[in-house]
Amino acid sequence: MTVPVETPARKGPPLTPDARIQFVPGVGPQRAQAFERLAIYTVEDLLRHYPRTYLDARKFVSIRDLRPGELVTVVGTVQRSAALRTRGGRADFSATLGDGTGVLGCYFFGQPFLSRTLKPGVRAVVSGVAEGFEKKMSNPMFEVVEDDLEQLMHAGRLVPVHALTRGLTARGMRTVVRAALDCASAVEDAVPAEVAAAGGLISLDAALRTVHFPESDAALKAARRRLAFEELFLLQTVLELRRRMLNEAGRGLSTAGPGDLARRAESLLPFVLTPDQAAAIAEIAADLAAPRPMQRLLLGDVGSGKTVVAYLAALHVIEAGHQAAFMAPTEILARQHGTVLAQLAAAVEVRVEVLTGSTPPDERRRITAALDAGTPMLAVGTHALLEDKVKIPRLALAIVDEQHRFGVRQRALLAKKSVMPDVLVLTATPIPRTLMLASYGDLDVSRLRTRPAGRGRIVTRVATEEKFSQIIEFMARELISGRQAFVVVPLIEEGEPQGTLNISTRGHRAAQAEFRQLSEHPLLRNFSIGLLHGRLKPAEKQRVMEAFAGGTLHVLVATTVVEVGIDVPNATLMMIENADRFGLTQLHQLRGRVGRGVHRSVCVLIPGPGATPEARGRLQVLTRTEDGFEIAEADLALRGPGELWGVRQSGLPRLRMADLARDAALLDEAHTAARSVVARDAWLAQDEHAILKQRLMRDYREPLELALAG
Ligand code: ADP
Ligand code: MG
Repeated sequence: MTVPVETPARKGPPLTPDARIQFVPGVGPQRAQAFERLAIYTVEDLLRHYPRTYLDARKFVSIRDLRPGELVTVVGTVQRSAALRTRGGRADFSATLGDGTGVLGCYFFGQPFLSRTLKPGVRAVVSGVAEGFEKKMSNPMFEVVEDDLEQLMHAGRLVPVHALTRGLTARGMRTVVRAALDCASAVEDAVPAEVAAAGGLISLDAALRTVHFPESDAALKAARRRLAFEELFLLQTVLELRRRMLNEAGRGLSTAGPGDLARRAESLLPFVLTPDQAAAIAEIAADLAAPRPMQRLLLGDVGSGKTVVAYLAALHVIEAGHQAAFMAPTEILARQHGTVLAQLAAAVEVRVEVLTGSTPPDERRRITAALDAGTPMLAVGTHALLEDKVKIPRLALAIVDEQHRFGVRQRALLAKKSVMPDVLVLTATPIPRTLMLASYGDLDVSRLRTRPAGRGRIVTRVATEEKFSQIIEFMARELISGRQAFVVVPLIEEGEPQGTLNISTRGHRAAQAEFRQLSEHPLLRNFSIGLLHGRLKPAEKQRVMEAFAGGTLHVLVATTVVEVGIDVPNATLMMIENADRFGLTQLHQLRGRVGRGVHRSVCVLIPGPGATPEARGRLQVLTRTEDGFEIAEADLALRGPGELWGVRQSGLPRLRMADLARDAALLDEAHTAARSVVARDAWLAQDEHAILKQRLMRDYREPLELALAG
């Protein structure tokens, strides 16, 4: 049972920020457990438990002027009060408040103990919304006052709303926070004084007091800015340190070769490189020859031709007698890349091997033995390549396809393979600049903006379910002219409402149902339809993919297994069901599976039956642009960074105050500040950075250690 706390100031040893939460007046060992459920263990944790939002109860009115439906505050004296028992047996409390202009009735459900607080004759401030035209409020916020209205916590001000848990009330939380603020000035500020001054930041002490009990909107804004800056600054400092450590670690294997092999391979390609591809290769070759390790991102929309850039980069390394590894996120993609790369590399007699979880033991032994012997080659594989047992002693270049399935941890494992390989990350996921900066700091980036010439356009439409038969007619026409089609069905979580499009509760079942429906469709009778979902065995998936790529299957019904990398230039139609369930960026990647050949392609997005008008509207972004960066920015603005690429996977702590969708400018400031701090004091050895260093060691230990590992 929860009892509100109204604790008088307690005599005792002064509170310190690192004291356990139970020592805050009004907490104690029992209630401490409730705080711990909110991950609040110390006084500082409590001070960092910023309000979720605020209720604006600053409008004071006379009871006479009360209007319904508006959050207002009344100051008056309790006239009558009584605890009562309802017929249902619940104990409630009721009081009337007078202010000379009228009488306000206040009713409190289930709080009979208020009779001890709101006694007749007591002066109180009450904030709430009047119901109808009667002067009545239910469960208003209130506070007993003497004369001084300055110190209000619960009513008549911007009232903070903190996240709560079982056993904690809003009032209890506010009271305890107010008590903890006694030691706010003792919280050590990790932002160096110089940085704070340059950024025009208010003091940490003031920011903590204000964020919990703001005196004005302007003050709250300044406090938020101060606290958001602190978070971003700490994050950027960690990333700068990581970068500095990488640079200092130097590199084991330098690759300053003549580049003849890559040049010859390029001349043997069946096409001419786009200018962007050529520029990217030049940038990479320069990095490979430089003394510091490469950390480069190769960003290009699906179909922009990243693979060939990676291939030519690998040849630079192999020419120098080293090894290169190409890591794909899934088995299917690893095999597909393996096939493509082996074909390309055959022209210059370079060895390519594919190693995945399902490589047969004999072959696996043969490949790992060759790798272990340091044989120059390109090893293509999945995470299987990262296993400790797989030794790649002359690994000079690690290429990572689709970084978003590949976290900081995996990169650290990779770094253990060899002294310090250069890393090239390929991604089609356009990352908004803020997210990239927040998760990686400065990373070198090469961009492929233009798609190879001779590609057909992709027309995207949002359709409704009623159009289903027309879409199938269109599909049949495409198939008759020799093209192929994808039908994508999202994975749906158990327990969500069932739609009408034969969507069952599981992705593979939804895909199966769709598969059946299409197979039975009269217009599609003469075509063969394949089914691909996560439940299939790898060999089976492989077989289905190959059949589709080879053209023996005309339609492929799939869950999002097809999301990345699959290349079937003859596919010209993609139909995505329940499209509202996907993020825009993901849809953009999916549609990149078509438009890879010379033919015009069509992508039809079908929102699910439960899609809101907003969700449908959101999909329209895709009909207007093919620019992945524009789409990513729209995604960020619409959904916030939480679900997007990078932040979650980066292994870095969550931001509590900063919002990457909103605080782009602040992030830039924090980044600049972090750079200059690390540039001046690479080991944070100076006194003015002592607190900063301590704080990073406490809150960012793992990322820092990973940084040291690679
Ligand atoms: P992605 O960037 O999506 O990984 P890929 O590397 O798979 O793209 O390239 C898509 C297709 O484009 C492949 O079939 C590849 O051979 C082809 N391609 C790559 N570069 C060029 C080019 N410069 N001109 C024509 N076709 C190209
Ligand atoms: Mg690719």
